[in-house]
Amino acid sequence: MVAYRVYSDFQGGLPSRRDPKLTALGLSYYGSLADLLAQKVTLQEGMKLVVHCDNDENTDFEVDGVVFYDRQGEGSAIHRWMLEVDMNSIREVPARRVSVELLPCIKCDINMYRSVHTKGLNESSACPQCGTAVYSSFSVPTA
Ligand SMILES: [Zn+2]
Repeated sequence: MVAYRVYSDFQGGLPSRRDPKLTALGLSYYGSLADLLAQKVTLQEGMKLVVHCDNDENTDFEVDGVVFYDRQGEGSAIHRWMLEVDMNSIREVPARRVSVELLPCIKCDINMYRSVHTKGLNESSACPQCGTAVYSSFSVPTA
């Protein structure tokens, strides 16, 4: 199985509500959204991801994470999807950077970057071509 690779800010981690030995990282960053869209990932509970964060020009930090939806979390669904990681397992890897100007629609694949940066990005932003929600990857789980 392909391990999807998604950005988060390791500095922004908090003790996980489910297991305080683990750290919960948020996915509400622009970089997280861009990575999810580029790989056509819709968040699902229990999904395994590789989380990355810039270290320096040449290296990134990576750690394996498990996706969960924090039902006791604050704010909208975008802010409740979290990654649970063990910060003791962080590894340093060669940097793999993607263009920040690539924000492909999960459905029709057009680059929404220009539209999003003209109109601003918010929770009701939609693809200018097919109308799919920019944040459709962050739907509230049904179960
Ligand atoms: Zn579209």
